[in-house]
Amino acid sequence: QNNIKNRAEGFWRLSKLGVPAHKDPGKDFIGVSLPLLEAIAKVLEFPVAAMLPQEAFSIVRKSFDARKVLKEPQFVYTVDMDVKKLLNLEPRTWDFIYRLEPKLGVIEYMPKEDIPADLIRILHDCKQTHNGFKLEERQDTHGKDSNELPLLKKPKVAVIGSGPSGLFASLVLGELGAEVTLIERGQAVEQRGRDIGALVVRRVLQSESNFCFGEGGAGTWSDGKLVTRIGRNSDSVQAVMKTLVQFGAPSNILVDGKPHLGTDRLVPLLRNFRQHLKGLGVDIKFGTRLNDLIVENKHVLGVKVCDARHGPGYDDKKLSYDAVVLAVGHSARDVYPMLLEHNVDLLPKDFAVGLRIEHPQQLINGIQYSTLATEVHEGRGRVPVADYKVVKYISEGNDGASSASDDLIRSCYSFCMCPGGQVVLTSTNPSELCINGMSFSRRASRWANAALVVTVSSNDFDSFQSYGPLAGVEFQREFERRAAIMGGGNFVVPVQAVTDFLENKLSVTSLPPSSYRLGVQASNLHEIFPSYITQALQHAILNIDKELPGFISQDALLHGVETRTSSPVQILRHADTYESTSLKGLYPIGEGAGYAGGIVSAAVDGMYCGFAVAKSLSLYQGDI
Ligand code: FAD
Repeated sequence: QNNIKNRAEGFWRLSKLGVPAHKDPGKDFIGVSLPLLEAIAKVLEFPVAAMLPQEAFSIVRKSFDARKVLKEPQFVYTVDMDVKKLLNLEPRTWDFIYRLEPKLGVIEYMPKEDIPADLIRILHDCKQTHNGFKLEERQDTHGKDSNELPLLKKPKVAVIGSGPSGLFASLVLGELGAEVTLIERGQAVEQRGRDIGALVVRRVLQSESNFCFGEGGAGTWSDGKLVTRIGRNSDSVQAVMKTLVQFGAPSNILVDGKPHLGTDRLVPLLRNFRQHLKGLGVDIKFGTRLNDLIVENKHVLGVKVCDARHGPGYDDKKLSYDAVVLAVGHSARDVYPMLLEHNVDLLPKDFAVGLRIEHPQQLINGIQYSTLATEVHEGRGRVPVADYKVVKYISEGNDGASSASDDLIRSCYSFCMCPGGQVVLTSTNPSELCINGMSFSRRASRWANAALVVTVSSNDFDSFQSYGPLAGVEFQREFERRAAIMGGGNFVVPVQAVTDFLENKLSVTSLPPSSYRLGVQASNLHEIFPSYITQALQHAILNIDKELPGFISQDALLHGVETRTSSPVQILRHADTYESTSLKGLYPIGEGAGYAGGIVSAAVDGMYCGFAVAKSLSLYQGDI
């Protein structure tokens, strides 16, 4: 009995529970099915699966595994088991509880119920225990005895940029009692949707409201993949995910091995986020662009802004703040030179450039799932629309690839793969052409696209040295300009059939169709990048085809160019305070500052920065 009691204090986590795809109720079902109970019973060595009570198990993760090494594709579960809820079982069947022992990667003991709360709940708890709450008390007392206590004004914070990092920083600061102004050069999602519509249908590019700029940042008209490399089970990631659920994301993102939202879900979610921020008193200024910082003695005292649609000189304003959070993303190339003028420490950073490849989705389904491909049903089926993720290491000098340094190994990898998606234009001005991918929640389109990119480092930007730490930005620009010229203008994208790219010849026969709405132009994409990048791409594609036979296909089309995979610059900051190493009161965060590489990591960075700024303003005293 004692033994069972000890084992019932916490949770037992059971991992790698495989359920064959043909038995599982499918990707959208996140309950405990009988086939899952059978997999659990097998691990626990429990004789009759159907006798296990469903309520004793909660699903932590569900993913789909269609690797060729398996006899059959399967759904793989991680499940938490609450021993207390098993004690209603017939005592003669308790044997398996006595036998429970941690087993690496399969059975793990979780000493206590340690479920991370959503951020809003965490913040409410903070208010009760930290200064955020005291501030309100002190303001109340002031009314009673104004001679003794000075009037405590709320500290004023400007957050520049309403992408994931800026939104989460605003949320934390707003909840903890700061007076937050959220300044965004782009438009709210309603107007932004119309601007993007005008771009896709009438080729009208609004330089301040497009796929990169506007409410929600670069990730709004995206695939909305919520996968991250910063540890999906960490408390910070879970807090962000739970907060997204509070604002309307479906709860299966908490469980799905590859969670994603899609643009159609992101737009209403952002509206709810906005309403919540407004409820906290956050002043949101859309269509307002940061042009400059007000700096005195290496201290940021405020910002200079203007009406974004008209530019400097139109409705210019100087606004004072106690702290400025810079969350502008990596397409705000006008911000970096402004920072350099204030001697802000910037460092060039490695990133990756390449092309976007598109296949018919059916072809990718067939490569990944073989016969099960018929179960996809344009996103409505039991198995998820197939994706892929590949990395190949290419040694330069190998097979004549020219080399920036002799034994350099570059990685060429797929990036931002959008199953059932479309290729979209992410330029912010007409002379620079770059692309990315987006999808809707069902991922029902006929196409599968992904960037294939090659790593580059500051050694590769030698010819742009005169730009100092901004050499990488100019390196990106160079290829974007070439792509715009090669496409012939009007946002037409240069393309090449993958078979022709491998043979370095112009595609002269009819091109495979493309999901890109603004038109494509047959081109020789070898003319865009230096040969070390082109050859790395060629080698990688040949190797990928060995892993995914059929990847090299008459139906696969390469689009140019994909350059903005991550920031080419890092804005240096202190690790503990998030404050710039060169300007007091400036807090650079998110992807544009070089501290994030996607929606979730940007949100987590914004969240931590919110706490750090709140701490420096004495609104919060806890740990960060
Ligand atoms: P951003 O999201 O770039 O937000 C910065 C904001 O600052 C923008 O709204 C901009 O308008 C504003 N701003 C810039 N300059 C100024 C200024 N001077 N004054 C005022 N406001 C300013 N990531 C994923 O994880 N999953 C995906 O599926 C995915 N798909 C993507 C698809 C596309 C088409 C694109 C473009 C990106 C995609 N990404 C995806 C990347 C992801 O969007 C970014 O990593 C993330 O948005 C970065 O967040 P951020 O807050 O750092 O910056």
